[in-house]
Amino acid sequence: MYKAFLLKYAEIGLKGKNRNVFENALRDQVQTTLARIGTYHVAREQGRIFVECPDEFDYDETVAALGTVFGVWGICPVVVIESTDWEEITKGTGRYIDEFYENKDFTFKVEAKRASKLYPITSPEICARMGEYLLNRFKGLRVDVHNPNVRIHVEVRTKTYVYSQIIKGPGGMPVGTGGKAMLLLSGGIDSPVAGYMIAKRGVSIEATYFHAPPYTSERAKQKVLDLARIISAYTGPIRLHVVNFTEIQLRIYEKCPHEELTIIMRRYMMRIAEHFARKDGCLSLITGESIGQVASQTMQSLNATNAVCELPVFRPVIGFDKQEIVEIAQKIGTFETSIEPFEDCCTIFVAKHPVTKPILSAIEKSEGVVTEEMEALVRTAIETTEVILVSPETIN
Ligand code: ATP
Ligand code: MG
Repeated sequence: MYKAFLLKYAEIGLKGKNRNVFENALRDQVQTTLARIGTYHVAREQGRIFVECPDEFDYDETVAALGTVFGVWGICPVVVIESTDWEEITKGTGRYIDEFYENKDFTFKVEAKRASKLYPITSPEICARMGEYLLNRFKGLRVDVHNPNVRIHVEVRTKTYVYSQIIKGPGGMPVGTGGKAMLLLSGGIDSPVAGYMIAKRGVSIEATYFHAPPYTSERAKQKVLDLARIISAYTGPIRLHVVNFTEIQLRIYEKCPHEELTIIMRRYMMRIAEHFARKDGCLSLITGESIGQVASQTMQSLNATNAVCELPVFRPVIGFDKQEIVEIAQKIGTFETSIEPFEDCCTIFVAKHPVTKPILSAIEKSEGVVTEEMEALVRTAIETTEVILVSPETIN
């Protein structure tokens, strides 16, 4: 029945030049996303994006793909009537209601738009005449202009578009309109969700993963690649930096108090991630930390980790309970991969009794023991970092 989609987006706060940038970015993102599944025609038209589908297309697949584009607030499947002739419009609309609504016992309201004032019937008239036509044709229908069960939209342009369904999109802003950020991506549940949340605000994402072979397996790295690939369907291609962190971790393990291992290690992660962030023009770091989740995520610990960074560190799940994060992970499709049982480097070097309230000056003192020799190790880690471009097409 459907051959096209009309995409709605939230327009609040969008004015002048910003609006233009937003609309173009949204059109481009829709185009890129749909190009993965077929040849669609995507165009900006008067405050919305129109998507015309190829002759053969999969409805569910198309809706699912559109549901990954940030900035899309509503996805409306539309019936296209290849005419602006009033008779054709009423017949076409009637046919649509007849086929789509099995049970024709509901209240409705017609909402009309004409693209050109040259069209001889005004919008209020379209509403009135269409309402009347539908009331006559379907006896179970009643008009309710305030709180209708169904809003039937009729838009007369060079063709006529009819729709009554709005499928909820992800919302947010089109990726690329908000700069770029560096995500510290582990194989866990939280960091992919954190990346998703910041990307949703229009921010492009790069990622850094700290790998510690042979303590962490190739399979653990594969898991991170898989997670990056899953979120790249939303965020666009991700430059993933895979840092060999083994030597750094071993040195900390040898020379620093074990209860402070995680914090010191985390500080080195932040430093290295910030290095790549600056190099690639990222304006912030992102982590999946949540207050109190583990010893390294108390406010004191977060403070000790944060102290080594100059770029702002965004922690979008900071106030979420695990279950709330899990729900988002399930919704975006990362959960099943995140719970695969492959150790990431943090779980191997954990102390039995980590400090929960580290004092920054004490951490700095412990870390001071390795600072000098760490310089060369950090340099080597940076120089040997593998950069992998991950996109939904990546075959891992
Ligand atoms: P996650 O589910 O994201 O792994 P977690 O509950 O396991 O989180 P931690 O292991 O304490 O939490 O890590 C906190 C944050 O530090 C992660 O969300 C991630 O942003 C970053 N991080 C931890 N380990 C790594 C790693 N090996 N590589 C990159 N980032 C990491
Ligand atoms: Mg983790």
